Amino acid sequence: MSLREYRGKRRFDVTPEPAGRRAPRAGPAGPLRYAVQKHQARQLHYDLRLEWNGVLLSWAVPKGPSLDPSVKRLAMRVEDHPIDYADFEGVIPEGEYGAGTVIVWDRGTWIPEDEDVDAALRRGELKFTLNGTKLKGSWVLVRTRSGYPASSRREAWLLIKHRDAHAADGEITASMPRSVISDGTLAEIAQAEGGTVKKAAPGDPSVRGRRPPPAVSGARSR
Ligand code: MN
Repeated sequence: MSLREYRGKRRFDVTPEPAGRRAPRAGPAGPLRYAVQKHQARQLHYDLRLEWNGVLLSWAVPKGPSLDPSVKRLAMRVEDHPIDYADFEGVIPEGEYGAGTVIVWDRGTWIPEDEDVDAALRRGELKFTLNGTKLKGSWVLVRTRSGYPASSRREAWLLIKHRDAHAADGEITASMPRSVISDGTLAEIAQAEGGTVKKAAPGDPSVRGRRPPPAVSGARSR
């Protein structure tokens, strides 16, 4: 685990993202951090981050997590991020890597269900419990058989909710779209941080899932 790839992609005199440093844990007993960041870049996605060995292991989940155990969500393994990235919410400037708006969609702590996390990652099946504001309970990340999809050097994994008391129907990304830090939408954070509101807004449900106005009762009998 190294932050070389993370640092190599970013110019820290331009982007407000943390340069970070590897932060070895003070002791073995402390809780491990967990976060999901909603990132409206060229494509909207949700970045799942799990603290391990002084960095945040990271997966980009295009459709975001689902609480429905029958739903498997593609999760592309991406470069490790620094621990303090878990608190980053703001605008990555145009022209920079990942340009767009980021909100902290969920955060909390996680507990590995495997005794040996490194072996689980190598094996391609990591079971874990989340204790976030929005996501809780047992989950699994499974590396796909094909591993690397065509035209990508990223490992393809699947993020799946285990059946437990926290499983549910519906799309939590749609029902709970806002930041757990600021309660802001992507557009609101872009507005506050000098980003392009128009580019941030497609990730917000008010635009994406706009419902038709309710039918006026009695209109037909007129
Ligand atoms: Mn991202």
